[in-house]
Amino acid sequence: MEIVEKIYDVIVIGGGPGGLSAALYSSRADLDTLILDAGLPGGQLNNTEKIENYAGFSSISGSDLAQEMYKGALQFGAEYTFGPVDRVENTNEYKQVISGKKIYRSHAVIIATGSENKKLNVSGEEEFKGRGISYCAVCDAVFYRNKEVVVVGGGNSAVEEGSYLSQFADKVTLIHRRDQLKAQKILQDRAFANDKMEFIWDTEVEEIMGDSFVNELTLYNHPTGERSQFKTDGIFIYIGLVPNTRPFADLGILN
Ligand code: NAP
Repeated sequence: MEIVEKIYDVIVIGGGPGGLSAALYSSRADLDTLILDAGLPGGQLNNTEKIENYAGFSSISGSDLAQEMYKGALQFGAEYTFGPVDRVENTNEYKQVISGKKIYRSHAVIIATGSENKKLNVSGEEEFKGRGISYCAVCDAVFYRNKEVVVVGGGNSAVEEGSYLSQFADKVTLIHRRDQLKAQKILQDRAFANDKMEFIWDTEVEEIMGDSFVNELTLYNHPTGERSQFKTDGIFIYIGLVPNTRPFADLGILN
């Protein structure tokens, strides 16, 4: 293992909006700050087509806002390094942050590791990942031009990304396990007014099937208890997020 010589005041783990904001504040307060990131600066902002509810920007693409946040975070001297964190040790003297073969030390650690997409955990989900199953409309919508796709979920992400997908696909069917959406009303209104969007309520996806690509789903309808087959060219899963807390489990940090 290589111990990095410099001892930081603050190590921020995660370079999403939370981590970049934390680094901006700590470096501006004259604290020696290192951001350790495991992905693109801006995190999941990069997977969002358009942001129109962030103060100061009437409308901006997720990746442009990510770039702005990144520039802002580094303007007072914070350092940024790619380094997925394996674990953090809380010694008497320092916090030790272990990333691969490197050990970084600091007086404080800010955990801003965000979350990853929750999985449906149904048969076929692992098998067809990247072959008709996606968790990122901005990344993959273009592959579904003139095709028919399903979006699963009823939150802001499902409804917003479903609307985005409708710019490419011929038809977007949103399948939700309840009879009403949880998404903000403005997003619901847009989706209900969208000719290309259809809704299947009270229904869960039980199985994802296909040949080389996804072509069919088994659906389970709650009130009736009936199962049915549904043909589709792809499925986008937006059923929420789980926190990235694995590196901190030893410290008892789980959510
Ligand atoms: P979310 O708000 O947690 O919504 C998850 C949706 O998936 C819910 O409708 C939930 O159903 C459904 N669901 C959960 N587990 C399921 C399962 N196993 N099978 C089927 N359906 C399941 O997640 P999100 O939409 O990804 O949003 C995450 C956070 O980001 C939220 O705080 C959201 O407000 C925010 N966000 C904001 C914006 C924006 O401001 N424009 C855009 C995107 C996301 P129930 O409704 O029955 O619980």
